Amino acid sequence: MPSVTVPCQFCTTLNRIDTSKFGQGPKCAECGRPFLLDRPLKVAEDAFDQTVLKADIPVLVDFYADWCGPCRMMAPYLDEIARAEQGRLLVVKVDTDRSPQISQRYNIRSIPFFGRFEHGELVKTAIGAVGKAGLQDLAA
Ligand SMILES: [Zn+2]
Repeated sequence: MPSVTVPCQFCTTLNRIDTSKFGQGPKCAECGRPFLLDRPLKVAEDAFDQTVLKADIPVLVDFYADWCGPCRMMAPYLDEIARAEQGRLLVVKVDTDRSPQISQRYNIRSIPFFGRFEHGELVKTAIGAVGKAGLQDLAA
């Protein structure tokens, strides 16, 4: 069964979750609060490798910052894709200001920067306000 290791959005504990259970309201083993997997998950630098690189399903990562206007413009499209692709594609948001090492690793100089990861490899990227079509291209 494919699974992902994702941080609880409340207590940041990493939980391993079967993708087949995404729709069944999985709860955090530590704090008991629900995982809401039909929307983008915020992932901090220390959880990036476990969550993004070790996932059994493709991962779409939005590298963003709170002050970035085009990032905010793209957010609703990202939400839509997370909902539509639940269980097939993990959608992750990485705050570039709080994750400078990850930004450096992937040489991210301009945001929003969207990357599709498969089995630990960055296989496809899109930069800027690429619209819904641009994101769908990465999600497919
Ligand atoms: Zn928790």
